[in-house]
Amino acid sequence: MTLTFSIPDTVCAIIQRLESHGYEAYAVGGCVRDMLCGRTPHDWDLCTSALPQEICTCFSDRPLITAGEKHGTIAVLWDSVPYEITTYRIDGTYADGRHPEQVYFVRSLREDLRRRDFTINAMAYHPQHGLVDLYHGAADLQQKIIRCVGKPEQRFREDALRILRGLRFAAVYAMQLDPETARASHLLAPTLRQISVERIASECCKLLAAPDPTVILRAFSDVWMLLFPELESVPWEQALSRIKAVPAECVLRWAACLYDIPSKTARNMLLRLHMERKQIQEITALLQLRNTPIPEMARDMRCLLLTTKPSLLQKHILLWAADQHIPKAQSQRAKQCLTETLASPICFRLKDLAVNGADLLEIGIKKGPRIGVILHTLLQMTAAEILPNQRELLLQEAKVLSVKPLPLPEVQPLQAHPLRPIPPDGQAPDSNDSDNRDRTPEIPHHSS
Ligand code: ATP
Ligand code: MG
Repeated sequence: MTLTFSIPDTVCAIIQRLESHGYEAYAVGGCVRDMLCGRTPHDWDLCTSALPQEICTCFSDRPLITAGEKHGTIAVLWDSVPYEITTYRIDGTYADGRHPEQVYFVRSLREDLRRRDFTINAMAYHPQHGLVDLYHGAADLQQKIIRCVGKPEQRFREDALRILRGLRFAAVYAMQLDPETARASHLLAPTLRQISVERIASECCKLLAAPDPTVILRAFSDVWMLLFPELESVPWEQALSRIKAVPAECVLRWAACLYDIPSKTARNMLLRLHMERKQIQEITALLQLRNTPIPEMARDMRCLLLTTKPSLLQKHILLWAADQHIPKAQSQRAKQCLTETLASPICFRLKDLAVNGADLLEIGIKKGPRIGVILHTLLQMTAAEILPNQRELLLQEAKVLSVKPLPLPEVQPLQAHPLRPIPPDGQAPDSNDSDNRDRTPEIPHHSS
């Protein structure tokens, strides 16, 4: 097949450099696959007949990263971008289903392509010689088929992560697994337990962030449940409809997936996966917000913003709309209410309040925790439009509050969400969560 693609000048230059030293070199793997289906590759990997030390010699004028040398990979930094160049290799035996005991460097592209996981990932491309496609990856790509190179059972037994990679590619490119590859995926799913949680988490995030991962999550729910037994009793079709309805982004998709389980259980699951702390916090916070009603009025929205970051609230609205099948017009109104509230000059952030701690000290309020309590109450009052954010009025109110006994006056919670049932842990959701963020926000009763 003579197909020509435009590949970056740097990649051509790297290939030329290796060839000028008498070696073969090709772009290979994901970048060729992406190029063929019209996507811009996010990185360019190369393979070569040169041994790692020979690659280093060819690029002795460039900064090199040699951490992967044992596996044949040298990264060349070109205009500060790393290009991974890997010696043609075959994998030795896999004792543990995780990584090969040894790799063997070889001088033939054919052998290198045979060790690769799927036909769509086993293609190489050369700017002059064109596509090398020994396993009909281009045809599979066109027919949208994920097929193992060689016998699926054997390939999955060598490295179980390939099962999850297959599902991920199928989800991301809206492809199907060929029957034999699918059968082996179901059969050998239990061997995924041998794989490191980080690798699992990374693949699952990529899968969930596919445009529509639900076809694969439905067809391979057994694989998913095996990884996440916490989800076994969840109404899966409902979860899938939620996942499909929220934007294709890892945090939102995880939250949509875990929306029916207690947030504590979900948090433990995400901790087990060693996911990023920030992501775990955000997903857990979204689950804790489940029973918080979506404000319809700016005043209530502002009060919610006292305890919830705007970005989180935005995601909360998206999840609520997906969970409750809210008509688009209604969810648009909620989004608009948030946008308008954020843009309005009415204060809901401590830093925007017209008075600060120093002002309160100046009018004679004693140093101590009361200062913070008063400031917070003033903020709640401005947010709830009980008081305007004006210095004099706020100072007057501060004086009134300064002689009241702590804690300051009773607060009135927003109504509980009328539609969402309590997650199935038999009790109030997350009653023992330490940060207890799924409490509804509080609006002070005040009659000054
Ligand atoms: P992407 O980078 O878009 O996630 P990719 O296919 O480039 O996809 P990488 O992990 O970057 O994935 O791997 C580069 C190439 O190495 C793959 O295209 C494939 O040929 C090969 N490869 C990666 N992981 C495996 C594996 N577990 N088993 C066999 N071959 C693999
Ligand atoms: Mg890649």
